[in-house]
Amino acid sequence: MSVVTRFAPSPTGYLHLGHAYAALLAHGIARERGGRFLLRLEDIDFGRCKPDYADAIEDDLSWLGIAWDGGVRRQSAHFDDYRAALARLEDMALIYPCFCTRADITAELQASVEAPHGPSGPVYPGTCRGLSAHERQARIRQGLSYALRLDVAKAQAAAGALFWEDEIKGPVEAAPTLHGDVVLARKDTPTSYHLAVTVDDALQGVTLVTRGEDLFAATDIHRLLQAVLGYSTPRYRHHRLLTDAAGRRFAKRDQAVTLRGLRAIGRTPSEVRAMAGFA
Ligand code: GLU
Repeated sequence: MSVVTRFAPSPTGYLHLGHAYAALLAHGIARERGGRFLLRLEDIDFGRCKPDYADAIEDDLSWLGIAWDGGVRRQSAHFDDYRAALARLEDMALIYPCFCTRADITAELQASVEAPHGPSGPVYPGTCRGLSAHERQARIRQGLSYALRLDVAKAQAAAGALFWEDEIKGPVEAAPTLHGDVVLARKDTPTSYHLAVTVDDALQGVTLVTRGEDLFAATDIHRLLQAVLGYSTPRYRHHRLLTDAAGRRFAKRDQAVTLRGLRAIGRTPSEVRAMAGFA
């Protein structure tokens, strides 16, 4: 089976050298191994994503010499796919509505003796997990807004031990329960990063997920979702993050290293590829 890789930026700013590295890596692997390279725009956060940034991503990648196979998948055009996955999880009773506000969660965590910290921040204390069906319905009828959370312990119990293969680290056992009950649909958006990424990688037939090592722990959750939704599991390659001379990670707000900024001062595509570590 030939490899399918993808580059999946969020259009919340201009691409910088760190993105160039990630895109060149995924593109290069697909080309070397005779596979396909896909471009996906993770634009579910309407508050932060801008159409101009989406256009700039395509333009900057083309300028850099990166051509993607097929059309660009924009997550904002696929909410039905995420709703369908949520409906399946609902049928399996693996998700529940959570009415907590951020303030509720903070207060609950402050009140608990030991507020556990997961790989991506404080762990949700499970406040709404135990609400009765009656109470849930009553709150929904009252018009309270709610997120949908995954009952991670229940899903893990149903799935059993889960592993995935990282091309750099080797076999990894997924530890989703460390994250607590993550949000799969936000109050303001009918999906979340974890759900959209997992559904899209499955629907797009991605066989090798390349992404930064800052997302290594997120794979715990994605592997669990794959198991309960019956998706096949891609391989992963969590790569290092490029840093500047002072060892700081590049950020979209840092004009000096955006591809836009580098183009504006006359850098050529091959110079920028070299700056990103690709000769
Ligand atoms: N959209 C994510 C980002 O821009 C990457 C998602 C992924 O590769 O899984 O960091």
